[in-house]
Amino acid sequence: MEIEPAEEVKEPPRIHRLDESVVNRIAAGEVIQRPVSAVKELVENSLDASSTSISVLVKDGGLKLIQVSDDGHGIRYEDLPILCERHTTSKLSKYEDLQSIKSMGFRGEALASMTYVGHVTVTTITRGQLHGYRVSYRDGVMENEPKACAAVKGTQIVIENLFYNMVARRKTLQNSADDYTKIVDLLSRFAIHHIDVSFSCRKHGAARADVHSVATPSRLNAIRSVYGLSVAQNLIKIEASDNDPSSSVFEMDGFISNSNYVAKKTTMVLFINDRLVECTALKRALEVVYVATLPKASKPFIYMSITLPPEHVDVNVHPTKREVSLLNQEVIVEKIQSVVESVLRNSNESRTFQEQTVEATPSVPSVTNNDLHLSPSPSGSKSQRVPVNKIVRTDSSDPAGRMHAYLYKNPQKYLGRDSSLTTVRSSVRQRRNLKETADLTSIQELINDIDRKCHSGLLDIVRQSTYIGMADDVFALLQHNTHLYLANVVNLSKELMYQQVLRRFAHFNAIQLSEPAPLQELIMLALKEEDSDLESNENDDLKKKIAEVEWEEEKNCFQSLAAALGNFYAMHPPMLPNPSGKGLEFYRKRKHGKHTQDGGNSCHVADGTAEEDEFEHELLSEAETAWAQREWSIQHVLFPSMRLFLKPPNSMASNGTFVRVASLEKLYKIFERC
Ligand code: ADP
Ligand code: MG
Repeated sequence: MEIEPAEEVKEPPRIHRLDESVVNRIAAGEVIQRPVSAVKELVENSLDASSTSISVLVKDGGLKLIQVSDDGHGIRYEDLPILCERHTTSKLSKYEDLQSIKSMGFRGEALASMTYVGHVTVTTITRGQLHGYRVSYRDGVMENEPKACAAVKGTQIVIENLFYNMVARRKTLQNSADDYTKIVDLLSRFAIHHIDVSFSCRKHGAARADVHSVATPSRLNAIRSVYGLSVAQNLIKIEASDNDPSSSVFEMDGFISNSNYVAKKTTMVLFINDRLVECTALKRALEVVYVATLPKASKPFIYMSITLPPEHVDVNVHPTKREVSLLNQEVIVEKIQSVVESVLRNSNESRTFQEQTVEATPSVPSVTNNDLHLSPSPSGSKSQRVPVNKIVRTDSSDPAGRMHAYLYKNPQKYLGRDSSLTTVRSSVRQRRNLKETADLTSIQELINDIDRKCHSGLLDIVRQSTYIGMADDVFALLQHNTHLYLANVVNLSKELMYQQVLRRFAHFNAIQLSEPAPLQELIMLALKEEDSDLESNENDDLKKKIAEVEWEEEKNCFQSLAAALGNFYAMHPPMLPNPSGKGLEFYRKRKHGKHTQDGGNSCHVADGTAEEDEFEHELLSEAETAWAQREWSIQHVLFPSMRLFLKPPNSMASNGTFVRVASLEKLYKIFERC
């Protein structure tokens, strides 16, 4: 490496204060990412102004014109000069007010931002006035004195030439599909939540409005008028609540689609304390329940309104407020998931729809017909199902084997009318309590080996930790006391299956063959068949290894069999790349010469129609389902059963299966899609 002569070393660049107009324009670009973000801010302002009627008019996807008119309380004449300055608001005075803030706005940034990236004109009249005022703004300030004018009750705000001064953004938006679809989607969402407000949304020049809702006391009516009869007639009402300060405090009500509703993608309309937000964790949790309960209707329509004490919600975590932080998010998501699960299961039972077959995930063995012997439920008990989460939740004192309840192929068959999950549980418990196979010395020795090599520290982690989520394709994040650990689910599932094979030895269902099968040949055949066109040389070794199970010597034979089964059932990542990470690129349609230029900001918008057109939808959705199912199985089958059965070997402490990554107290966060 060469060292440059001293005089040629560059002076550090001078630091200077940015011009305020530059700062403001940069900030504005963040708050108003695209036309739909401006509409959202304006409609929220109208809602904050107690309007009962809000209409939106859009020209050229919002780039030419966005006009939002309401019949709210209007803006005082004296406030007009500072209306569009940054950080001017009527909704917040001191920081502490944020704790209990009910209005949607509070930053006083939206209108100001719009004036830095577009031309804003405000017409407003307050109650009791004979005339209103009209005034235009640019870069935060009034362009002229407010002019008296005729006005109808409320406020009308017009934005013209959005992003006129941001060339790249304007070009990107012009190239991308019309933002109008997103605006319609946004208004539809508002319309089914704020049912006491009439909404309309119209394209400039169009005779008919694309969203047209009238105030109604019935949510179902609102959904019908906005999303149509086909949605409204296939909905089930849903409610849940909790009022236990030690776990969670919330109320939820909403509507979810039943087994007759079939769509290409999930519609999730979520309001938390009346704010329209996105919550990937909740959306995923519910999709997974649908996949497991109503596979044919696995892309649901969901409207949900969740209310929490205001002090449990941190609204100040995102410039466009589309993201909020919640206390106890994990518990809440889980409770809602379990309510949805039981409602869906009940609804599926109480009606005569065509049979729904649950396809067991490939990585999890499914329970055969003979596996569950259900006795009728104790007399007097209701035929209510215990929600998914309750039966598998992390309580280490839980009875064993509950996860088997998930692996049925057809719920009706096993969960007859009179049976309750309590019965399933006890039958599963009995299965579990079968005396472990002690009559074969070889097996007993192998089990003793497992017990002897068990690492007590890891055992404690496995038993007492809480599953947080997948950190990447292979590692799960666990919390144990105040520590965070990464745990390799492939290694763990392999070991768990290995141990289970040994412990349940001779208690699996057996099929008697009239003639013994030529195992080695069969296995070789099967392996060749399976990946005939894959790197066959490399696999040959593996094939031989697997085929060469020690058949002659009992202990080795059982051990290698158990290891092979463990490997087979290990929860390897699905073949398709994970679409929630970098793998998403894999699904992008190969187009030439067309790139999105807005630095990925576009996915912050409530509905990503424009971007989604660029993806291979079917493959993407297949991958999403495969990954979601795997994650569900990891959380609800693998970890609960590990808690009960796994004796982690010493080797796992040093081979990278468990890695301690951090110490912290608590982590609760709700985040938006993308
Ligand atoms: P914020 O909503 O965070 O207060 P905005 O920039 O969106 O900030 O709006 C600034 C202020 O302008 C609001 O606090 C409100 O007093 C007033 N305002 C904006 N839009 C309307 C409207 N449609 N009707 C009445 N007042 C409005
Ligand atoms: Mg606002």
